[in-house]
Amino acid sequence: MTRAVWILATCVACATSPTDDDATGTDGKDDRGTSRRFVEVNPDHTNLTFRTYIHRALDALETHDEELANLTARSIAAGHVRIDELADLTCADFERVRRDLPDLALTADDYPRLRERGSPVTKAIAEQVDGYMWSNRIYVSRSQEPLRLAATLVHEVNHVINRSEVGYYDNLPTSAFVHEYRAFHAERVIDPDFYEGVNLVEHVLVNYELDRAQVPANVLDQPLTPRLLPDADAWRSRRVADDPADDHITADCM
Ligand SMILES: [Zn+2]
Repeated sequence: MTRAVWILATCVACATSPTDDDATGTDGKDDRGTSRRFVEVNPDHTNLTFRTYIHRALDALETHDEELANLTARSIAAGHVRIDELADLTCADFERVRRDLPDLALTADDYPRLRERGSPVTKAIAEQVDGYMWSNRIYVSRSQEPLRLAATLVHEVNHVINRSEVGYYDNLPTSAFVHEYRAFHAERVIDPDFYEGVNLVEHVLVNYELDRAQVPANVLDQPLTPRLLPDADAWRSRRVADDPADDHITADCM
């Protein structure tokens, strides 16, 4: 399939290069510390540099004028989502990324290479996506500026409350368009300067290679649909604990 499958990712609008040159451990992420401000997908693989990287984005969200930003920070602090870097993809999520980015020609053997210092595998994924989510797990590339990372987190949290990993596929390409438009709209609320002069409908259609002719005109005219805010209502109706387990997919990982 085309990029229409890497829907759950925030596409990389500007080139980013991951830097993972922390001084601790063999792979740079194992100081055993813990953040009190967010929950990591893999808390056993962490370090101060990564936590500080996330904290700066959380600072941007907490001090932002928009309720959307504040609610996103609160959702993260409450542990409604878990955050990590692309190098810490779970085995099952790596398999999904591998499937969604066929052009990278990644193999199951690449999974253990994700955490190698300067890993070309992680770098290749980060060149395609700023963020990725599945269930309530959010992964972000390194080296984003704090406000950009804040916007990426808002984008991915929006996918989580809308259960995009399911809804995205309901009625392609329209469902993908709707889910991405909403997430990008949320991102633009947080970082409007980044999207100044950008037609968001075109942005989504082009970057996700969605066929405009297959998206109904009324959807293109009024592309924004609920839910936008990760508020108490949103989390009450998004029961992450009920999400299916990943057992069926992990067998392919090394
Ligand atoms: Zn997205």
